Amino acid sequence: MSSSTPRATNLTLEELDALRARARREAGPFVDPDVQRRFRVHNGEWATEVLGGPYGGPHALTWPELYLLHLAVQAEPTPPPPPRATAARLARELEEAPARRAAAEEAARQEEEWRDLVATLQAAGVRVEVRHNYTSHRHLEFYTQGGDHVYLLDPLHVGRLHRDARVALCHTPSNAPNLEYLEPTQDNRLPSCRTCLRHMRSAARRLTS
Ligand SMILES: [Zn+2]
Repeated sequence: MSSSTPRATNLTLEELDALRARARREAGPFVDPDVQRRFRVHNGEWATEVLGGPYGGPHALTWPELYLLHLAVQAEPTPPPPPRATAARLARELEEAPARRAAAEEAARQEEEWRDLVATLQAAGVRVEVRHNYTSHRHLEFYTQGGDHVYLLDPLHVGRLHRDARVALCHTPSNAPNLEYLEPTQDNRLPSCRTCLRHMRSAARRLTS
């Protein structure tokens, strides 16, 4: 192993040799159930370096090997991060970066669209806010359980869309019972109700055309 290869242990080769010699000397022929019960390794890469060979899990160990790892855990309570697993994690993060970036861009796009819609309606004297519905009726076509709806603080009359103040945009006589309890939200969330958003977009379109 070259000196530049990252290692899973900070124990020097000399220290490892000394631990192996001590394990051979002390282990004895019989398993110590106390050591066996408390047995653990930091990670597979670390165990492989301590053993100087592949680590196949606790059940693949001979008693002297188990005892050696037991000594090594005490000699090195906090080893460096395992280099191969760390490199694999970094590679995975790199690979996932474009998807994460795309998701962030999409979230920013939705935020911007929402701010524009709110501003357009507000300019027409219609204030809205996002309210959460905690009621739990199901099986209704226009109703999203636990959804965040666009709540009108002023009446809205645009084209064929007529709504009183103090209802959700998706409000209809048939789904009204499901939208009885709309709680104000404080976290600047965006509406999740597709029907509300559809009405909001078409109202904004008419107001700006
Ligand atoms: Zn809605």
